Amino acid sequence: PATELERMPVSLLCLGVLIHHHYLTESIVPPEVRPKPAVPAKPPHVAAPSPTAPHGPSGLGGGFGVDRVPGLGHSGSGSTLLGYIGIDTIIEQMRKKTMKAGFDFNIMIVGHSGLGKSTLVNTLFKSQVSRWSSGWGGEHKIPKTVEIKAVSHVIEEGGVKMKLTVIDTPGFGDQINNENCWDPISKYINEQYEKFLKEEVNIARKKRIPDTRVHCCLYFISPTGHSLRQLDIEFMKHLSRVVNIIPVIAKSDTMTPDEKNEFKHRVRKELETHGIEYYPQNEFDDDMEDKNENDKIREAMPFAVVGSDKEFQVNGKRVLGRKTAWGVVEVENPNHCEFALLRDFLIRSHLQDLKEVTHNIHYETYRARRLNDNGGLHPISANNTQESNL
Ligand code: GDP
Ligand code: MG
Repeated sequence: PATELERMPVSLLCLGVLIHHHYLTESIVPPEVRPKPAVPAKPPHVAAPSPTAPHGPSGLGGGFGVDRVPGLGHSGSGSTLLGYIGIDTIIEQMRKKTMKAGFDFNIMIVGHSGLGKSTLVNTLFKSQVSRWSSGWGGEHKIPKTVEIKAVSHVIEEGGVKMKLTVIDTPGFGDQINNENCWDPISKYINEQYEKFLKEEVNIARKKRIPDTRVHCCLYFISPTGHSLRQLDIEFMKHLSRVVNIIPVIAKSDTMTPDEKNEFKHRVRKELETHGIEYYPQNEFDDDMEDKNENDKIREAMPFAVVGSDKEFQVNGKRVLGRKTAWGVVEVENPNHCEFALLRDFLIRSHLQDLKEVTHNIHYETYRARRLNDNGGLHPISANNTQESNL
């Protein structure tokens, strides 16, 4: 009869296969896993585990092949073998790495001037307002943007560092002739994809490519109460194919609740009529859980927001708000406006997904087109002055 030692790798292998199978088919692994030694002969490279085995517990990332089975340093009983392996610690391992590396988040704001774009971004990241570069927020008058400008800042919360870049665009649609006025914006977005691609195809590429790609474009809709402007439709139509667009209704405190609801409804209808796919796009829902969650969000969009950098005293609490004829509209009160909904969606529930859709869909589309046009991939170096290769 086989000794415990000889049986160990085989049972671990079987367990591995079962787990793998579980991942693939989502079948339920019976609680009592009693793998029979299905492999008659011990593969020659499965040696008795020794403390010096090359694959310690860290060999986890390499799949479930026999030679990847972590060598346990002792001949435990059967129950130890079939018990805890430690797969779930990968979450903690990832957490640590993310904490160390930090991450980039790039948000672009578009809409005609005076719609409260700068104010809203200041409100979103308000705890950091005092640390923004001077001239942005605070007591300063916010300057009118005349060119596309990216301002970055590292924000840290709970030990996690986020490099936030806000890309402010010049008052969109401020001109008399607004024909193709989305061109500079589209050009900017594509330039960031190009930058990333160049780094990616580099022979000596960086371990971590700096990510300047626009993860999210907040599009500000004027609170007219009527309908979308032709320009809004054109912009979103053109850009929704290259970037995650999140439409918001600006300065919603200027509408009554009834007007607001009716306007939201109408805007949603118009977006649908024109086939505009804003974020979170239906087609990228991963599963039913995703779909249900995102359906709720889509039904509530576009969020009607209010921004402010002024504090008021309400019931003894200091809140951000705007004074109106009816009283103080509290920015973070969900009964007053949908700022909190937008913030939770953008940062607390969908930030990672925004980054993933940008990378896996928008960037991937750009990349495929670019490499196709190029008739194949030519290696280029970062210092290559000839731009013709890519
Ligand atoms: P931007 O040109 O789109 O960046 O707009 P700003 O953020 O500079 O804001 C333009 C003006 O609108 C400022 O006087 C703001 O105080 C005001 N404002 C900003 N957000 C709101 C809002 O939600 N409601 C109202 N009523 N006014 C706002
Ligand atoms: Mg501004």
